[in-house]
Amino acid sequence: MSTIVVWFRRDLRCHDNETLARAVVDADEVVPLYCLPSRLTGAGLFGLDKTGPYRARFLLDSLADLRTSLRERDGELFVRRGSPASVVPTVARQFDAEAVYWQDLPGTEERTEARRVRSELTDEGIDHETFWTHTLYHRDDLPRPPPEISDTFTPWKDRTEAKANVRAPTPAPSDVPTPVGAQGSLPSLAAFGHQSSDAELDERTVLDWEGGEQAGLDRIATYIWEQDCLREYRETRNGLLGSDYSSKFSPWLALGCLSPRRIHREVKQYEADRVANKSTYWLVFELAWRDYFQYQLQKHGKQWFQQGGIRERADIEWRRDREQFQRWAAGETGIPFVDANMRELNETGYVSNRGRQNVASFLANNLRIDWRMGAAYFEARLVDYDVASNWCNWAYNAQVGNDSRDRYFDIVGQARQYDADAEYVGQWLPELASLPAKFAHEPWRLSEAQRAEYSVELGVDYPAPMIDLEASYEKLR
Ligand SMILES: Cc1cc2nc3c(=O)[nH]c(=O)nc-3n(C[C@H](O)[C@H](O)[C@H](O)COP(=O)(O)OP(=O)(O)OC[C@H]3O[C@@H](n4cnc5c(N)ncnc54)[C@H](O)[C@@H]3O)c2cc1C
Repeated sequence: MSTIVVWFRRDLRCHDNETLARAVVDADEVVPLYCLPSRLTGAGLFGLDKTGPYRARFLLDSLADLRTSLRERDGELFVRRGSPASVVPTVARQFDAEAVYWQDLPGTEERTEARRVRSELTDEGIDHETFWTHTLYHRDDLPRPPPEISDTFTPWKDRTEAKANVRAPTPAPSDVPTPVGAQGSLPSLAAFGHQSSDAELDERTVLDWEGGEQAGLDRIATYIWEQDCLREYRETRNGLLGSDYSSKFSPWLALGCLSPRRIHREVKQYEADRVANKSTYWLVFELAWRDYFQYQLQKHGKQWFQQGGIRERADIEWRRDREQFQRWAAGETGIPFVDANMRELNETGYVSNRGRQNVASFLANNLRIDWRMGAAYFEARLVDYDVASNWCNWAYNAQVGNDSRDRYFDIVGQARQYDADAEYVGQWLPELASLPAKFAHEPWRLSEAQRAEYSVELGVDYPAPMIDLEASYEKLR
């Protein structure tokens, strides 16, 4: 009787999961294991939560769903807490396993964790095998290996599109024969130091984030097929309001409840059945951005977490002004477009890509606050946090990452362009909802008479701007 332990990481699914599928083929019995590592609970960088309540709840949903899914296949999900370096070999020994299979990941913490597990297993004479399963393009199919890829996206994307194919998803195993043993109970929010009230979403949330493979597959069905949103994705993707301006696949992708190859297959099917246009291409294009950052993280490793980023810039003077940072984080800057986006993030764990770029640019460029504080804050709050997508996007917007062009956002210009009627700002800042759009984005332009007319007193009903925006742009030019 041969036994293999499958150590689940950010691959909480049965579909397109080569790690699980191969274990089922290679062994008589499989021990599916999830270990909640201590590094995900408690405080992270700058004393901020490592996993905030929204993502913690999403993870717990996902584990419950994975357990159900494995049970439907005559299997089980064994759940433990602690350091994988001690838990994984202990479980392997308990079940007399000959090998452990797991998902290979590019994050620096994940790599350190895996190295420790590998070393313990080797000492005990237990084999291991790793599988690359979270990108659209498989690492082995890239025209150049990650250490040699370009630091500019477009040449990488063009080359990859021309030379690599997306592999077909691996079918989900119909049976996962699992030995009997103590399953262990699923962790609760308390394990992360949160209460259930912390994880309650504001009713204005774009989606009622429910973790798990089933909910992720349901979202594909709704967005692509039932609502037929894909045909207009390119036109709507810069939206700010509602569930369907973009796919919202990100939280499920981040925990591996969805595989990008599965999404790709659905897009191809949609193109065959309904329409192939710029929008259908664009969703795959965005998944290529996602891949690019995964491979960039693999290439530059720890350098991504340095203040100077991968460009090793030493010419920017970063500040660590806690008070200003808190105002940004709380959505109290007095710049409505920034505040609306930060409040959405705080109340729901999600904010649009347009919003993320603007709030990141404001913190890093206008305030010149250490961009890593912003990245760590996003890490705590986002329901879809992914180490590569988050840190590489932050570095990009702070001008220390990929793409050597200097870039910063004209926040008010962006607000006027993407929130022309100020509906978004009005939704998240009800105190400004009575203002005409042109003032809602720049309430500091109200005359005294207008302040009285609209009953908006700066510094009382809504903060006065924390900086002179125009002067901050002067410094950047
Ligand atoms: C400062 C900043 C921080 C970010 N942090 C994260 C993060 O922690 N996790 C995360 O998944 N995304 C992050 N993004 C990227 C992007 O904002 C989100 O992926 C996107 O908003 C998720 O919504 P969606 O699924 O509806 O996206 P869609 O527009 O529907 O895109 C489809 C998928 O493509 C991928 N994608 C789209 N844009 C990007 C991008 N710029 N970079 C990488 N992948 C992308 C995502 O997986 C997304 O789910 C960040 C962007 C910025 C500017």
